[in-house]
Amino acid sequence: SFETIGADFYGFENKLTDQEKDLIVRLRAFLDENVRPFANDLWARAEFFDRDVVVRGLADLGLFGQPWEETQQFPNSAVFRGWVALELARVDASVATLVGMQNGLVMGSIAEAGSPEQRAQWLPKFASGELLGAFGLTEPLSGSDTAQGLQTVAKRDGDNWVINGAKRWIGNGSISDVTIIWARDADDNQVKGFIVPTSTPGYSATRIENKQALRIVQNADIVLENVVVPEANRLQKSQSFRETAAVLRLTRAEVAWAAVGNSIGAYEAAVKYAGERIQFGKPIGSHQLVQELLAKSLGNITASIGLVTRVSEMLDEGVQKDEHSALAKEFTTSRMRETVAWCRELMGGNGIVLDYGVMRFFADAEAIYSYEGTREMNTLIVGRAITGKAAFV
Ligand code: FAD
Repeated sequence: SFETIGADFYGFENKLTDQEKDLIVRLRAFLDENVRPFANDLWARAEFFDRDVVVRGLADLGLFGQPWEETQQFPNSAVFRGWVALELARVDASVATLVGMQNGLVMGSIAEAGSPEQRAQWLPKFASGELLGAFGLTEPLSGSDTAQGLQTVAKRDGDNWVINGAKRWIGNGSISDVTIIWARDADDNQVKGFIVPTSTPGYSATRIENKQALRIVQNADIVLENVVVPEANRLQKSQSFRETAAVLRLTRAEVAWAAVGNSIGAYEAAVKYAGERIQFGKPIGSHQLVQELLAKSLGNITASIGLVTRVSEMLDEGVQKDEHSALAKEFTTSRMRETVAWCRELMGGNGIVLDYGVMRFFADAEAIYSYEGTREMNTLIVGRAITGKAAFV
């Protein structure tokens, strides 16, 4: 049965239907068996999950493709899908990122910008885990400014496109079967999306080494040298960066949920430690200033759950805009950064040892804070909405 979590202080779980709660129960059992026991070790060795177990297992649970009629297993709400991201990140931010990439960025691109035929052709293969996807937007010379600065070029050549350029930071990029590549059309200068099988000649990917956050996720530098894809692989509804931004609006809101989950993972470890560690003859949880760290953390988490719940409801109501998900991403990741630091502080020296259960959340927070739009960029999207003036063009 569905167990209430203490970090959901105001009981936002009541928004979930019984069917949605049932899937959360199954997801928790799956994570307890297949992710939680291995996460610290994989993280320490910077190794990816066992794909047959974790990717297939998540697919079998039906977690890829929940929103779309081609792949969804039962009707569900955006709050539920956010709650899934929370539960994943509560155990490990890398597994949450894996789902966010496959489900949100890759399938989301095809669902938002693909034709009905492309949706029918590709979405079920990602939903079943047969294909693992990656999302290639960021470049070595263009991160925050991809809308203007993206340099990868796609040139139309009869029924084909020839793509040249480079991508950086691409999650799953070295192990994916298919990567969505965003490139500038050489003719009209607009950014368009392409479904690129990674076996295509000219596609090469090199894993980025020595990453000290989200170490289980494999990020890659990608080089595209005269990569030829048919027009049938161009996302048919992608005309400009507007469609890319539409995908990011959806995924940023989900990252906001994952940030809450990452905070909860650290908070739960801190609560446990506060009850066990004895100083001055009593558990440190009896000391007033330690209680303050926990209360402040719970305040951050509670405010954040309220925010992400509402931003997801706005999606289902059809009123969510870029600035709404940008604010959710900016606010929750900033609160997460404070929360994981307080939880680490509460553990004293043990807080920096992986085994005590906070350090992985602490380090992974840094990646979540910067990907899918840095704090600054999301702040500027909100600033544009407030003032009507874009500060970043
Ligand atoms: P930069 O754009 O160089 O920014 C550096 C700093 O300058 C930041 O603090 C930024 O906020 C600030 N800055 C820049 N411009 C302004 C401005 N106008 N005003 C104020 N401040 C500004 N990308 C993908 O396409 N696919 C992926 O799967 C993917 N996965 C990732 C996974 C990880 C772990 C990481 C770290 C990144 C990933 N990214 C991915 C890339 C990510 O989206 C970028 O790192 C992010 O957009 C920031 O770009 P940048 O790193 O180039 O930083």
